[in-house]
Amino acid sequence: MRQVTLLGATGSIGLNTLDVLARHPDRFAVHALTANRQVDPMIRLCFEHKPRYAVMADPDAARELAERLPAGLGVTVLSGCEGLEQVASAETVDVVMAAIVGGAGLRPTLAAARAGKRVLLANKEALVMSGALFMDAVAESGAELLPIDSEHNAIFQCLPPDHIRDPDGAGVRRILLTASGGPFRETPVASLASVTPEQACAHPNWSMGQKISVDSATLMNKGLELIEACWLFNTGPGRIDVHVHPESIIHSMVEYLDGSILAQLGSPDMRTPIANGLAWPERIDAGVGSLDLFELGRFRFERPDEDRFPCLTLAADAFRLGGTAPVVLNAANEVAVRAFLNGHLKFTDIPVIIEKALERQAPVAAESFEVIFEQDAQARQLAWSIVEAQA
Ligand code: NDP
Repeated sequence: MRQVTLLGATGSIGLNTLDVLARHPDRFAVHALTANRQVDPMIRLCFEHKPRYAVMADPDAARELAERLPAGLGVTVLSGCEGLEQVASAETVDVVMAAIVGGAGLRPTLAAARAGKRVLLANKEALVMSGALFMDAVAESGAELLPIDSEHNAIFQCLPPDHIRDPDGAGVRRILLTASGGPFRETPVASLASVTPEQACAHPNWSMGQKISVDSATLMNKGLELIEACWLFNTGPGRIDVHVHPESIIHSMVEYLDGSILAQLGSPDMRTPIANGLAWPERIDAGVGSLDLFELGRFRFERPDEDRFPCLTLAADAFRLGGTAPVVLNAANEVAVRAFLNGHLKFTDIPVIIEKALERQAPVAAESFEVIFEQDAQARQLAWSIVEAQA
């Protein structure tokens, strides 16, 4: 029986993970569920899944949860980042699903990595921010880092298991990272300035949290994924080609030196990569039905339109610049997306804020996690001031 801690239980990945876990009560037990502020859904999840711990990052929400959960349920409530780190690194825990959204996930995900857990990484921002330092922490503790992002999980499945971080040894020529193109792939450029948060969050193929939905609409999600892929698979952006594939059925591909291209296909349903990470190297039922390829008929591929979606280029440039540039990129993006969702910023201003933040906060060497956290806080402050000036 494997004990699972689920960071970000109330979110889209969290709920999909609980769906898969509930199909296999003989294999997995829930050690801890965590959220930020949403008490009502957390109460419901505690009744359904009976974790030993429930953690609310927000102390007021933790107090409310502790008051409202009946003592007889046997759930201990913890709070704050310390609570998150405690349940991510507890000795009895085998698997940690890292599904907090944004930079807030870095500390608990790192705690899981340092404690040598099987870390199922959905929280791409954590790796974008801390890249080499995070991978070093994984190597030092012997943690297993398995990608949950559907694209990275697909690449992982297409690589030989003993050469995941050795593209040369595996004979890899390039990685073909697929992208849906988001809801605005064909929207006239002149209309993009007036798109609403509702339109941006209405992804054509995937049902996801708000932040990643907006990232998919700007293509920043693909930019963050490009950086994530570089760290996970020990390569550079020059060996990764983004292919827009509007059907979202091929989740990514690996091309080898002999001309072979291996692809992983599946319905756009996150339960597939989640089940893959939970059970790897075994396969378990994820509740996902068979794909009807006759019904689909054909697959399309297009080059990404980097003039329309400058975020992809901004991300690749930040990775190439190195040091803390990806920290600034990620922080400014989180701030700009929040401002857009709150109605304080136009959709087309998101890349403008990020570019200005990158210009004004020069990267420094990412030599420690303290530097990462400092630069992150500074970039968020800077980005908010740029948003205020822009609004
Ligand atoms: P959601 O917004 O749906 O859920 C986010 C979760 O994180 C919630 O449980 C939320 O709690 C919690 N949370 C938010 N802020 C904090 C904080 N400051 N401290 C602690 N917990 C916090 O996000 P998604 O599930 O869509 O995405 C999660 C991660 O997975 C992201 O990094 C995303 O990029 C990645 N991902 C998501 C995919 C998807 O299909 N959704 C696909 C691939 C990757 P509360 O409910 O209380 O706010």
